[in-house]
Amino acid sequence: CFAHVQQAPEDPILGITVAFNKDPSPVKVNLGVGAYRTEDGKPLLLNVVRQAELHLVSDESRNKEYLGITGIVHFNKLSAQLILGSDSPAIAENRVVTAQCLSGTGSLRVGGEFLGRHYSGQKIIYVPSPTWGNHLKIFPLAGLEARTYRYYDPRTKGLDYEGMLEDLRAAPNGSILLLHACAHNPTGVDPSQEQWEGIRRVVREEKQFLPFFDCAYQGFASGSLDNDAWAVRRFVGDGGEVFVAQSYAKNMGLYAERVGALSIIVKEPAVATRVESQLKLVIRPMYSTPPTHGASIVTLILSSKKWFEEWKEELKAMADRIRSMRHELFNALKERQTPGNWEHILNQIGMFTFTGLSKEQVEYMRREDHIYMTLDGRISMAGLNSRTVPQVADAIHRAVVK
Ligand code: PMP
Repeated sequence: CFAHVQQAPEDPILGITVAFNKDPSPVKVNLGVGAYRTEDGKPLLLNVVRQAELHLVSDESRNKEYLGITGIVHFNKLSAQLILGSDSPAIAENRVVTAQCLSGTGSLRVGGEFLGRHYSGQKIIYVPSPTWGNHLKIFPLAGLEARTYRYYDPRTKGLDYEGMLEDLRAAPNGSILLLHACAHNPTGVDPSQEQWEGIRRVVREEKQFLPFFDCAYQGFASGSLDNDAWAVRRFVGDGGEVFVAQSYAKNMGLYAERVGALSIIVKEPAVATRVESQLKLVIRPMYSTPPTHGASIVTLILSSKKWFEEWKEELKAMADRIRSMRHELFNALKERQTPGNWEHILNQIGMFTFTGLSKEQVEYMRREDHIYMTLDGRISMAGLNSRTVPQVADAIHRAVVK
């Protein structure tokens, strides 16, 4: 029955690690995967996470009973406060429904499924071009048609703001609009606050779009949780409806624990109650209930003032190290007088730099120098350290001048 099954290609991002692991070279460098690494090139378990885990295992009152369909109630409240602000009127007015989901991906998928079933507007979701590749796979499976809007301008290596607004204005009224809340993946290009305002006016006043924020990097972009939530809070602050998918993979280093949340902000508390009831019907046949361990860690950290402060410090240290790698790589290319303008390495935001290297140059660097990145030229700045920067700069230089 299965002899006809064809060999599927590797995932374009996760497949890089597969290729990297097979490479026997002692000098290989993996800049493909979006996971934080220390200056020693090692994965980081945050100290505050370790403390919370120790607390969890030593607490004899805990058990492993099933959670409710939408997960830990306290976790949901704290997650909504983290992204919307603890003084958010939407929370106070009971207009926010939050469900603990399986990290960012699961939150997007559950949100997509809910929209596929219940959204009364156009079941079309506009995603930026380019975007995190999984968006284009998640939403069609949830019953939404995915289309793209212009976002990145390769000439300026910045935002194509005019092109974006033009595409949004040409889209059908009432479509869904996917926005990266901060630290856009893969480009590292975010709108300015003024541009966000322009986008918000088109969304609210001209097109009646439903904004769906994907927030996978809160705290990673600027080092400040509040700054990175600015755009989401502006959109929620105008009283309109908003979807937000949050992930704790990057900002708490909880990648494998799969902790995230979907929040749906509506206009009236009575609607929120009904939305929540339907959200449960979406989740129950997908995975029944979410897991408890990772969300318990997050709940402990967010609810303890001491641990929350410690987390913010550790988060800022990660963001700062990434920023310092931007400076080191930029300076290294300048020293080598590598042709081209590399200012975008400094200007882009978050974990990634969209280098502008072509597919051929990326393949050349992999073949000749054992340096791995996605074929679109995206490099994870978190994968760099002071030892590998010169090596990577040499390789970029050779790929550019060859
Ligand atoms: N959205 C974006 C833009 C991302 O970059 C990522 C992680 N690569 C995710 C969502 C989801 O990640 P996770 O499911 O691991 O939380």
